Amino acid sequence: MNVVIDINMTKPKTAGAIAFLKHKDKKMLIGGDWVDAASGKRIDSIDPATGQVIGTIPAGAKADVDRAVKAARESFDKGVWREKTPDERARVLWKIADLIEANIDELAELETLDQGKPLFVGRWAEIPGAAGQFRYFAGMVSKIQGETINTSINYQPPGKKIFAYTMKEPIGVVGAITPWNSPLVLEAMKIAPCLAAGCSMILKPAEDTSLTAIRLGELIMEAGVPAGVFNVVTGFGPDAGQALAEHHDVDKIAFTGSTPTGRKILNAAGGNLKKVALELGGKSPSIVLADADMDLAIPGAANAVFFNTGQVCVAGTRLYVEKKVFDKVVAGVADIAKGMKMGHGLDPATQIGPIVNKRQADKIKSYIDGGKSDGAEIVCGGEQLGTTGTFISPTVIAKTNHNMKVVQEEIFGPVVVAMPIDSLDDVPRLANDSRYGLAASVWTQDLSKATRFANAIKAGTVWVNCHLMFDPALPIGGYKESGWSRDSGMQAVENYLETKTVCMVV
Ligand code: ADP
Repeated sequence: MNVVIDINMTKPKTAGAIAFLKHKDKKMLIGGDWVDAASGKRIDSIDPATGQVIGTIPAGAKADVDRAVKAARESFDKGVWREKTPDERARVLWKIADLIEANIDELAELETLDQGKPLFVGRWAEIPGAAGQFRYFAGMVSKIQGETINTSINYQPPGKKIFAYTMKEPIGVVGAITPWNSPLVLEAMKIAPCLAAGCSMILKPAEDTSLTAIRLGELIMEAGVPAGVFNVVTGFGPDAGQALAEHHDVDKIAFTGSTPTGRKILNAAGGNLKKVALELGGKSPSIVLADADMDLAIPGAANAVFFNTGQVCVAGTRLYVEKKVFDKVVAGVADIAKGMKMGHGLDPATQIGPIVNKRQADKIKSYIDGGKSDGAEIVCGGEQLGTTGTFISPTVIAKTNHNMKVVQEEIFGPVVVAMPIDSLDDVPRLANDSRYGLAASVWTQDLSKATRFANAIKAGTVWVNCHLMFDPALPIGGYKESGWSRDSGMQAVENYLETKTVCMVV
């Protein structure tokens, strides 16, 4: 089997994407201006399916981060955004959502060309999801409020009373560092609550997938966010990302990415003890019980791991199946895997696109090969394909044991390990035998079992009879080494707020 790419299927169709890509050398957004990196250096943006250079982005580094932080700080201190009324800020966020939706086909095409993802993933899930974040947090702006508090203080001067209350204030200047798997929507999950809170910010998108962040910067300016409030610095992680995480005038870092990089960011943030929010890796179980509706569970378990070519932090990558239906479920998932069409993401028939770059594809392949040499069985897939070597066929692995690397480590590709469940009493132990705790799904028609396992599994999200159900109102984030804090949901705005207590004798 190999991947054949029809060259006619590799070109964008929307006028917006064509126009955006016509000017190949993109700039980054600092203080309301579109600028090059101080060093003049650039990074190629590559279509991972063809290896073609589709544009270049500035290789921002410390000098550029310094400039962007200065612009953000000035805008914050001047109050050009945080002092707008909630109504005014909400209208701008709502407008950003409108603009994303008005440009949805263009953004989906750009995301596919830059990242590789099948077009439907961006067009029907991620880009609408990004717009949804701005709408949801537009509604939150007017609900940010403190409390009046009754105290038991009894040493105030005679005749005086205590009046105490809390205020919610924007945390200040925020650095957001985001990954390459689902760029725009994961960026929106930081930007929307951050701007809702009244902060100024610097976004450092992933170097492999910065094009939609740059386009989003244009839309955010068009919507009326004042200059300096929202900045985009493109560049490599160890240069621009590290400089942002270390910067002493940044009050908060909001990061989504791998657990090892999260640790580096945490260390870098220690200098000024800035606050840190981390959304990290996962190795999430899908648990299929014998009584499950198999018409839902088999395609659901396959989609849980193969959606977005497996490059999903909450992907269901450990498939546990009750023994009596193990063969049926594994064969069903493998049949789906074997039937999936690999190709260029812009080809509407494509279900599995390339991995974001060759380095990641090599990493996935080495996990698969490692599993094989540890004695696991490759039920299907396992090949690295295409002239670019960026395609990995959807892979099902069986006959593993729990100590194998393929079972314990995050692979971040279309690879699932399938394991039988001998007794339902084992389920919590198996599901929780991981340093991660991001998500899980349980497939059963028995409400008692569903509830029992939803309670017992240590994960930030447990889905029942579904996986990958996202909504801006549903908090998402991890237990254990999957991270700190939550994106989405009402409390996400708290990531970008400080609580001030005011206690008066009056
Ligand atoms: P991967 O290792 O899979 O490429 P990462 O988690 O490293 O993914 O990438 C997520 C984001 O973190 C990207 O924007 C990347 O540039 C950034 N990054 C990588 N290394 C560092 C670092 N040392 N400091 C800050 N940011 C980093």
